[in-house]
This record gives sequence, structure tokens and C-alpha cells, in this order.
Amino acid sequence: MFPVQNGKLEYFMPFRRGNSARRRWRLSAKLLIVSSVATVIGFSAICANVMLDMRRGEEELARQTLENLAAGIDADISRNIELYDLSLRAVVSNMVMPEIQHVSRELRHLILFDHAATAQHFGAIQVFDANGDLTVDAASLDPRPENRGDEDYFTVHRDNPGAGLYVSRPMLHRGAYAIVLSRRITGEDGRFLGIVAGSIRFSYFHELFGRLNLAPDDTITVLRRDRTVIMRKPFDLDIIGKNLSERPRWKADNLKEGSSFAGTGPVDATPRLYVRRAGTSPLFVVVGKPLETVFNLWRTEAIRIGAIMAALIVFVLSTAIFLAREIGRRATAEDKLEELATTDALTGLKNRRKFDIEIDVEWRRAARQGSPLALLMIDADHFKAFNDTYGHQAGDQVLVGIAICISDSVRRASDCTARFGGEEFAVLLPGNAAMDALQVAETIRGKVLQWCEGETTTTVSIGVASMTPGAGQDWGDLIEAADRALYAAKANGRNQSVVASLPQIALVA
Ligand code: GH3
Ligand code: MG
Ligand code: MG
Repeated sequence: MFPVQNGKLEYFMPFRRGNSARRRWRLSAKLLIVSSVATVIGFSAICANVMLDMRRGEEELARQTLENLAAGIDADISRNIELYDLSLRAVVSNMVMPEIQHVSRELRHLILFDHAATAQHFGAIQVFDANGDLTVDAASLDPRPENRGDEDYFTVHRDNPGAGLYVSRPMLHRGAYAIVLSRRITGEDGRFLGIVAGSIRFSYFHELFGRLNLAPDDTITVLRRDRTVIMRKPFDLDIIGKNLSERPRWKADNLKEGSSFAGTGPVDATPRLYVRRAGTSPLFVVVGKPLETVFNLWRTEAIRIGAIMAALIVFVLSTAIFLAREIGRRATAEDKLEELATTDALTGLKNRRKFDIEIDVEWRRAARQGSPLALLMIDADHFKAFNDTYGHQAGDQVLVGIAICISDSVRRASDCTARFGGEEFAVLLPGNAAMDALQVAETIRGKVLQWCEGETTTTVSIGVASMTPGAGQDWGDLIEAADRALYAAKANGRNQSVVASLPQIALVA
């Protein structure tokens, strides 16, 4: 006998379930997840784009501010150099006048030096002859002997007549750090007659930078065109006078005229936004602001918006996952409900209701395809007597056993096995001609016989019919034919299969 629990064969599940509902639910769950992920990605992309735009805006604002700062500093330095240069030029042009040699020293002073040359932070203008000896000094009518023949601001003019205005490297000049500005004195015959030199003290830069309201990590660097550092804020004597183009790992491109550069500069490791002012003066200005300061506000905003976005993403995704799980649970519940509604509780085969739907579907398909549809009607022999002898419980187990024998004999996914009612079963075999269906019927009958061999013998009679749907026919005709064949089998002595030969019924076995 077969194991029956709670009046139902537990392991004996329906063989072909309608999974379309589950598939539909699964699709909805997938769609939900995919659309949630797409929404999250879309919103994140928009958010990231807005944040990047904001970052670019902050950078642009800082660049403009730095550019304005650099322009102000550059304008001040250029104006002062220009003023001082005018004084140097005046001295140069006066020094070559022959008359100047014949006037008194006092008058010569008055002619040579104007007031600009004696302004604060500017050193006294001096004139050196072709040997580098000091001949005239704006600070003294009777200067002490001094020779500057070795200094670069002297040799550059001696060796190069076209040097123009020369700005020296920063140096200790007359007891104070300064840069020396010099011009060549050229005789009418082109001869080198000496130089006129003056100095701008560092106090000028200190005062200029002191007037500006700068953050501690902001930098201002004044450089010569060959990138020698003239002055830097914060002030560091180790950097002053160094040529930045000689710095390893520093690209000269990074300080192009009128451009900006965000990154680590040549002096310290703090990443900054550096802006170089475009100008024509012999010196140029680079101002820098730490990137951390530039993006400080933006970073705070980005963290705030990022945190809100992350919370939203977690919320949307967890809600989607929760809903998808709910959908999954619902799909399983629906499947179970559908299974209950279409399954015979005792045998686990499809019930009559489901069979009617299946036969309708298969009949229409067979009609469309012009293919045969076979039906087996199986009935337990003398079952009333069995019940009367062994009881209803034993009769139930026999019915389960017959169901297993039927299921074991029918393997194709398209075949449909059902409990037709009472001790009667039906098997639909799409595509089977009568002879193929008869083989299946005989297998079932054989299995039942084999299984029942023992103290209680149960047999089945089977009516077999196969029809290719024709005009004016319906599946009721197929059932009727199989039923008639079953009656013929009963009438012929039971425990046998009979094929209905349409329209007449022919007894085969
Ligand atoms: P035949 O060989 O002519 O088919 O004889 P039979 O006794 O099998 O046919 P009949 O139609 O006279 O009796 C059918 C019996 O099947 C009656 C009923 O007690 C029994 N039966 C129907 N459904 C069930 C069921 O679910 N469980 C049990 N144990 N018996 C059932
Ligand atoms: Mg019977
Ligand atoms: Mg019957």
C-alpha cells in the first residue's frame, strides 16, 4: 500500500502546475527591483552632476578672487618698478650729457635724481663706471669708494648691451634684503660707460602683503620671468632666490602666463589653487589658496546631500526588496491556492474542474494543429465490493495506488492525469493516435495489476479513444467515445483496455 498522511498522499504532487501566475509575479518583482535600481542610479547621477557643477562653480569663484588679488598686487609692483625705472632712465640719459661733467656735484645731484628715487622702500640710486666703481650716489655727495664690478646686475650690462632693465636676484644690499634694478649707460659711440642701479627693499613687499587680508595658508609669490623667487608670503629665506624651474617633479607648464593650476606646488606639499597673472612687467605674481579652503563649503554641502541621498537610496532599495519579497510570498501563496483549487485532495492528481479546462485547451490546440488527441477513461473494477469488504479507508489507499500507477506511466509534460470522479480516472494524451494511447493504457493496467498482486486484487478497465477534432465536434464527443469504450471493456469482462474505433467501437483487447 502507499503512504497516506492526513488522508492525502504527501509526496504525490501534481505533475504540471500552472506557473504563469508565479512567472507574472516574479516578473513584477524583477521590474520593481530594476525600476528602483534605475531610479536610484538616475537620481545619483543627477545629484553627482549637480555636486560637480557646484564644485566647478566654487573653483571658478576662487579663481576669479585669486585673479583679482594677483591683478592688484601685480599692478602695484609694476607701477613701482615703472616709476623707479623712469628715474633710472632719467639718470642714464642725463649721465651721457657732456655738460653734466662740468657742473658742480650739488647741481649734478639736483639734475640726476628726482623725488621718486628717494621714496620709501627704494634704495638710493647709484652710478657705477665701466670698472664697477661707484661714481655718483643719490644718498651722498661724497660717497665712499665701492666696487660692484662682480655683481650680476653690473656684468649683465657690461656683457649684453641690449639687457634693458635688469632685476637682480634678491640679495643683501646695503644691510637689507632687496632686489637691485639696473640699466646700462651707453656712450654715443656704443661704448659701455657703466650702470645706473637702484634697489627695492623687501620692506616694500612686506608692507604690500601686510595690507592684504589673507588666510594663513594662502600664498603670494613674486617671481622673476626666469622663475626665480623674488619674494614669497609666507616669508621663507630658504625659498627666496631659488629658481622654481630647477625643482624636480615640478612642471614648468603649471605656471603658464594667465593660467591657473590646482595641485601641489613647487614649494610645499599643500595642494592649492594657483593663479598666475598675465603681465608685461619683469616680475610676475602667483597667488595660491589651499584646495581644502576653496572646497570647504562645497565639501560640507556635498557630505550633507550625500548623506541624504545615501539614506534615500537605502530607503528606496530596502522598500523595493521588502516589496519584492512580499510579491514573492504572494506568488507562492497564489500558487498554493491555485494548486489547491485544481488538485484532487486524495490522489494529488488534477481534479475534474482542472481536467475540463485542460481538455478544452488541448482540444482547441489539436483542432488548430490538426493533430490527434487521445483520452483514457480508467475505472476500478468491482470497487463497490472492495469497499464493502475492506472498508472505505482501504478503498482510498487503492485509489491513491492507482493514481501513482497512472502517473508513473505518463511522463510527457503535455499529458494530463486527473481524477474524473469516484473511482474513475482520466488521462489526456495530446498528439497520440489510438494505438499509442492503447500502449499507455496497457502499461497502466499492467502496473495496477502488478501492484495489487497479493492478498487483495484490484484491476482497472480502460476505455481508449483518439480523435482529430473535426467540424461540428467538441471534446464531449471524445469523452463519450472513451466512455463507450470503457463500458465495452466492463461488458467484456473487465481488467482490459478497449479502443473506441470511431464512429463504431472496435474491441481490441
Ligand atoms: P464496476 O466494475 O462496474 O465499475 O463496479 P464498481 O463497483 O466499481 O462500480 P460502482 O459504480 O457500482 O461503484 C463505485 C464505487 O466506488 C462506489 C463507491 O463506494 C466507490 N467510491 C467512489 N468514490 C470513492 C472514494 O473516494 N473512496 C472510496 N473508498 N470509494 C469510493
Ligand atoms: Mg468501477
Ligand atoms: Mg465507476
